[in-house]
Amino acid sequence: MTAYPVTDSPVLVTGASGFIGSHIVQQLLEGGYRVRGTVRDPVKTRAEGHLTGLSGADERLELFAADLLTQGAFDDAVRDCEYAIHTASPYAIDVADPQRDLVDPAVRGTISVLESCRKIDSMRRVVLTSSVAAITDHADGHLNTESDWNTGSSLTRNPYYYSKTLAEQAAWQFVEAGKPRFDLVVINPFFVIGPSLVPAINTSHTSLIGLTNGHIPAVIALEWALVDVRDVARAHILAMENPVAAGRYIVAAESRTVRQVVALLRSEGWGDRYKLPTLGLDNALGVVLTRIAANFQGPGTRDYMRNHLGGEMRFDNSKARRELGIEFRDVDQTVLETMDDLEKWGHLGRRR
Ligand code: NDP
Repeated sequence: MTAYPVTDSPVLVTGASGFIGSHIVQQLLEGGYRVRGTVRDPVKTRAEGHLTGLSGADERLELFAADLLTQGAFDDAVRDCEYAIHTASPYAIDVADPQRDLVDPAVRGTISVLESCRKIDSMRRVVLTSSVAAITDHADGHLNTESDWNTGSSLTRNPYYYSKTLAEQAAWQFVEAGKPRFDLVVINPFFVIGPSLVPAINTSHTSLIGLTNGHIPAVIALEWALVDVRDVARAHILAMENPVAAGRYIVAAESRTVRQVVALLRSEGWGDRYKLPTLGLDNALGVVLTRIAANFQGPGTRDYMRNHLGGEMRFDNSKARRELGIEFRDVDQTVLETMDDLEKWGHLGRRR
């Protein structure tokens, strides 16, 4: 972050009450920015007090109601803004109706935000939270870069990934075809963990929780490309502030296997407090057995397991480090801080 705000105008943050959005709001306020946060239910958000209690919020945070599926919902919130950070999008793996619950809000919501931004003469840049889900939906050892696109997902295969891919493609088409006054910069985070400013359980945290409550009963052959939520938030703000930032940025720090995460937790005493998995299924037979077991999970989880079990998750984060100047936190430290935080919120399994 620069030493001073690059704009006196408020910065629009959609999904301000989300896991990532709330960290963006916090860092913007810390940086001296004025913030317009959109949430679906400002009355509830105010009553919970997690956003409104942030330092600087009294003077510089305004909350607006906006739903991704409501035409023109962002018009009021974006008025006079020069920068918008669009994080809001459903983040769920297993849903009843992928078109209704994932694709429609992701795609129509992104277009809605961009349409609202187009109406504003002052708008200079939109930073969009996409995902590595728009880059790939499987782990095959390929070194993923910003030039890769997910071409495998569909409504019936990894629909969350599909929603993120379609939403990001729609955003690029919007700026290429419509030539608005603003430019678009996209952040593609991987598996985001870290301390949460809000009580809701983030989907990515269910994996760590699953290691303590029996939902992941064995050491399975998965590799997670982890990144700290505070680094993800910082990447968004650096992308907003840096005039030469352009295109997509993979924001991920390092990969860890489930075996490595479990070993880390044991070495720090978590195995004495919670029942961590001991059975090793991270071998050829284990992959076969886990694939069979995955058939009894929800369709999104089943797809994720099928496309990631036994695979290596490789990515190149050099563009974000080079152009945004981001230095990633140590992911082992982040895993441990996340566990402390999940315990604090009461989200972990039963203690031994
Ligand atoms: P959260 O579930 O915490 O946040 C999602 C946000 O989207 C919430 O603020 C939610 O608002 C908002 N939202 C969902 N549906 C609607 C809707 N119909 N109208 C308005 N707002 C809506 O998840 P994250 O913070 O993790 O996700 C934020 C972004 O980051 C998403 O775009 C996600 O795809 C992306 N991402 C997340 C990763 C991760 O590991 N966490 C990895 C890569 C990308 P409300 O508070 O009102 O429910």
